[in-house]
Amino acid sequence: MRKAVSFFFLLTPVLVIVLVISLLGFAVVFISVLMGGGDELTDGYSGYLGGVPFADLINRTAARYDISPALIAAIIDQESNFNPKAHSSAGAIGLMQIMPGTCRGIGYPADECWKPENNIDAGGRIIAGHLKSYRGNLELALAAYNAGAGNVRKYGGVPPFPETRNYVVEVAKQYEKYKKKLVGGKFETVGGFPTTLMFPANGEITSPFGWRWGRMHEGVDIGAPEGTPIVAAADGVVIKSGPASGYGWVIVIDHGGGLTTVYGHMYHSTVVVSQGEAVSKGQKIASIGNNGRSTGPHLHFEVRMNGNSLDPLKYLRTNWKDG
Ligand SMILES: [Zn+2]
Repeated sequence: MRKAVSFFFLLTPVLVIVLVISLLGFAVVFISVLMGGGDELTDGYSGYLGGVPFADLINRTAARYDISPALIAAIIDQESNFNPKAHSSAGAIGLMQIMPGTCRGIGYPADECWKPENNIDAGGRIIAGHLKSYRGNLELALAAYNAGAGNVRKYGGVPPFPETRNYVVEVAKQYEKYKKKLVGGKFETVGGFPTTLMFPANGEITSPFGWRWGRMHEGVDIGAPEGTPIVAAADGVVIKSGPASGYGWVIVIDHGGGLTTVYGHMYHSTVVVSQGEAVSKGQKIASIGNNGRSTGPHLHFEVRMNGNSLDPLKYLRTNWKDG
């Protein structure tokens, strides 16, 4: 009897857990069905935009509102042809043609509405809001962006205005065009960790990750002669290229999915990419230097997931030749 009781007590928590997991599974499926067509929100969001003006601001805004950078670029192309000083006769301002009152409502003074960082943020927020309201229906979201949500409601769909009908068609076309300029993609991860980083320079590991001389070394050092090319460890976008105390010139690449890589001790004169630029895995970004607190030419290389440094050697092959 005693044996049966303990068996029962052992079994009950297991059954409860199984039941809870099944219920959660059903709930997720049920909610997805309810939401319907919500896929469009992130459809095509498979990377970063490169080779267009204001790429840095566009990529950051897209990430902030979880929409495709290609969609933001398509709207900018149609609204202003990438001219931040564009003004419409109706009073709309800037790259994404925002009304000054709308800008004020979002928190930007009307006279600063034209500034690209404010204008793209406002436009990104507005189109993301419309996409949510219309459950990812791009046509309706674009119609609302052009003619206002009131008109979409009034006509129960895309309003019959020729300008709006044309706008919806043209932006959708541009969207397809800019999707082709997306590079990289959400970085492949397993359990939140990167899987396919490339060894960033042809050299030897001269100092490992971890504590040394009472200080945490947040990356690895790769020793090689000055001028040896440094390459991007994976596809991504350069989110920083600038000086950092002790590290000379530093480049940070955002690979999506929370993953960034950091490259240090370079000389500015060797840097061949700029902030906001999209880079491919293996593309040269700079050369090995000896700048900052450095006792010989080397690359200081960090791998960060959501800002936390990881041991790069767990995610890299151990030398240049293996890729
Ligand atoms: Zn180092």
